[in-house]
Amino acid sequence: MLHTRHGWWLEEAGEVVPERPLEGDTSADVVVVGGGYLGLWTAWHLRELEPSLDVLLLDAELCGHGPSGRNGGFCETLWGDAHRLREQAGDAAALAVCRASEEAVRGIGAWCEANGVDAWFREAPMLQVATAESQIGAWEETVRAAAALDAAEIAEAGADEIRARCDSPLFLGGAVYRLNATVQPARLSLGLRHVLLERGVRIHERTQVTELHPDGGIETRAGRVRAGATVLAVNSAAVGFPGYGRSLAVASSHIVLTEPVPDVIEELGWTGGEAIVDSRTLVHYMRTTRDGRIVFGWGGGRMGSGARLSTRLERDADVVARARGSLTRFFPQLEGREVTHAWGGPIDVSPTHTPIFGSRGRTHHGFGFTGNGVGPSYLGGQILARLALDRRDELTALAIVDPPRKLFPPEPFRYLGGSLIRRALVAKDAAEDAGRRPGPATRLVASLPRRLGLRLPR
Ligand SMILES: Cc1cc2nc3c(=O)[nH]c(=O)nc-3n(C[C@H](O)[C@H](O)[C@H](O)COP(=O)(O)OP(=O)(O)OC[C@H]3O[C@@H](n4cnc5c(N)ncnc54)[C@H](O)[C@@H]3O)c2cc1C
Repeated sequence: MLHTRHGWWLEEAGEVVPERPLEGDTSADVVVVGGGYLGLWTAWHLRELEPSLDVLLLDAELCGHGPSGRNGGFCETLWGDAHRLREQAGDAAALAVCRASEEAVRGIGAWCEANGVDAWFREAPMLQVATAESQIGAWEETVRAAAALDAAEIAEAGADEIRARCDSPLFLGGAVYRLNATVQPARLSLGLRHVLLERGVRIHERTQVTELHPDGGIETRAGRVRAGATVLAVNSAAVGFPGYGRSLAVASSHIVLTEPVPDVIEELGWTGGEAIVDSRTLVHYMRTTRDGRIVFGWGGGRMGSGARLSTRLERDADVVARARGSLTRFFPQLEGREVTHAWGGPIDVSPTHTPIFGSRGRTHHGFGFTGNGVGPSYLGGQILARLALDRRDELTALAIVDPPRKLFPPEPFRYLGGSLIRRALVAKDAAEDAGRRPGPATRLVASLPRRLGLRLPR
């Protein structure tokens, strides 16, 4: 098994020739910091709104090689957050966010089609399943929220219906999310990079931004950019910029990938392209690929500490071994089949579980996708492009733009508390998988985020 930082998707998508780093001083109308989906979509939408705009995009490494090139490729709406959004902002505001996120999923498919980018975009429902008695009904509040908003987006489904779509012996029932798609994530991020370059957006790679100026400019190690506005789209690295340290927490997620197993996929009846998540807090997520592999991820990776991004957020043999063990529990037919690749990356956890966009002077930021950034980053790009151009409309009025501020505890409490809670959640899930009730101390610690009004992944 090849256990790397970048993973298989980027390998499959093919190498890119890096753009040269920024050296010296320059200027631009808008400088976008970070070339993952959010920065790339922002640059795209800026040009859509103002075709002659001088947009400069800077990435510390290579665009699309962070989580945007390595994720599970679930291209989701924000309907899974409908109940939280109702709580936070009320019914009309929740519905507006969810509908805008549907447009984002469709927008990505349409963009790929229009720009000749074959990112393996495939629309198919998403299944949320229960794999232990304790998970049954976990979807009820989202199903209820969708119904209260008069939307038929999520429907409860019995074990038979779920197992007709994917016949894992663990699946005990679940819910079907109507609109969802899967993509080859690296083909999407690199496709975006390619199209932007073709359109004349200036990109400098291996260019780390070290300072943001209140007047809209930025500094790098070897240069400086004067700009009318800055967009900060650096995912979990935002914690390293002044003023953002407590706005998010950093967790990690890891993926294992099988060799092509089309016969197993056929046997499971999993031929409809459905993306599947289970209902634990530290989710398992799984899907198939165009060439007949199974992608199996686990959101149970370790926490990051402060602004220092530990290498274990990207490569963690222990977490990968656990994910690999779960893979054959979910699909016993895979016994004896090869797992060819493993990789991982950081997750920017939002204190509200929903992404946050907003402005501080001339700096406009987006972060907090909490493991659901593929679809929503398109919407984030639409929002940040408008904020950078100071154009207000229904998208900049959404409840995910400048929501009431909520902060995580400062370090070291965030890391220590987060790690303690993670450990309790792993223990709780392991007990429930074995059909046992977790002990009272484990239950208490695992319930802390909810009691404190903080939401961890899922
Ligand atoms: C293993 C894994 C599986 C996932 N699965 C899914 C999934 O199935 N569905 C889903 O919706 N989401 C998933 N996610 C989350 C999803 O990948 C992210 O939400 C999304 O990619 C975020 O995009 P981004 O542009 O904000 O961040 P990134 O892709 O991280 O891009 C940020 C960029 O900023 C650059 N940068 C950082 N600091 C600086 C600096 N100082 N100066 C210049 N550049 C800088 C980085 O090099 C990077 O390229 C997963 C994540 C992981 C790690």
